[in-house]
Amino acid sequence: MVDNKKTTELVDPFGRAVDYLRVSVTDRCDLRCVYCMSENMTFLPRKDLLSLEELDRVCSVFVEKGVRRLRLTGGEPLVRRGLMNFIKDISRHLRSGDLDEITITTNGTQLSRFASQLADYGVKRINLSLDTRDPQKFHDVTRWGELAKVMAGIDAARKAGLAIKVNMVALKGFNDGEIIDTMKWCHDLGMDLTMIETMPLGEIDGDRNEQYLPLSDVRNMLRKEFTLKDIAYKTAGPARYVEVEETGGKIGFITPMSHSFCESCNRVRLTCTGTLYLCLGKDDAADLRAPLRASADNDLVSRVIDEAIARKPKGHDFMIGRDDSTPAVNRHMSLTGG
Ligand code: SAM
Ligand code: SF4
Repeated sequence: MVDNKKTTELVDPFGRAVDYLRVSVTDRCDLRCVYCMSENMTFLPRKDLLSLEELDRVCSVFVEKGVRRLRLTGGEPLVRRGLMNFIKDISRHLRSGDLDEITITTNGTQLSRFASQLADYGVKRINLSLDTRDPQKFHDVTRWGELAKVMAGIDAARKAGLAIKVNMVALKGFNDGEIIDTMKWCHDLGMDLTMIETMPLGEIDGDRNEQYLPLSDVRNMLRKEFTLKDIAYKTAGPARYVEVEETGGKIGFITPMSHSFCESCNRVRLTCTGTLYLCLGKDDAADLRAPLRASADNDLVSRVIDEAIARKPKGHDFMIGRDDSTPAVNRHMSLTGG
């Protein structure tokens, strides 16, 4: 069979083909997860945000250059007004075959409302963040969230036929006791589970050193009860997956802290203000908003993207030290997008 797919023209100095764009469509969120945001966040003025038209333009330039996967994230992407129209419009690249997938990372609170539209517009998979299934603990970790809303969202997404991958941030002394139960629950419902190590991004109110649970500990805990088989399965993201023989499901590990995942990095991240970050853990960035606003055609922004990719760093240098809780970079995950 002849493969007519365009290959990306975005290749960085280390030979890594960049075919994955993560877009934070808003820095706002209806929750305040303790490891992600401080309680009193100051959000960006609306005029600083890319309009939905600008987002469409810039994403389309990336698609023209060979990006094949688009992930919408935030903040909470589903709180951005008009997002469904944006997805409906941008899905033309799915129909033309220039884009393989549009996915979304969500906290699930708004899914009851939007799941069927997402499916209608060509979204097939979502990542859903859920750190605990205990209503009180959920309320505590999100500072005010209602677990029931998320559970209703999961139901709606399953009914709409969306594949769900659950993301769970491993938090020492908070949810380590629930990991096995949550894994079984996910696998029973046909959902994969991905564990994430906390990363030092942005000032928060607590001490990250106290929250940090290395996933090597989680693996060891799982190995006592389950047979974990290494598998070749890869998504576009940085997780390494194993199959759990007893459940038949998969569990992934994202270990930015204990192992570098940079060598196979295929992605860049665009913030809601149009700043292109070349690495989650580095400050080097390119402003795409000014070139977008400076010229109605896309040549300028296209050139700025090329120049930026030529500067993509080899990797990050996150470190959570014993007595150092300063973040590696000052921007919150909600700005750059998870
Ligand atoms: N609001 C959406 C959600 O929660 O899924 C999307 C944005 S959120 C920033 C994306 C992912 O980043 C979530 O799975 C969240 O748990 C994770 N996250 C946020 N801050 C983090 C941190 N400091 N370290 C590791 N993961 C983090
Ligand atoms: Fe909001 Fe997601 Fe950050 Fe939680 S992790 S505060 S849901 S952006």
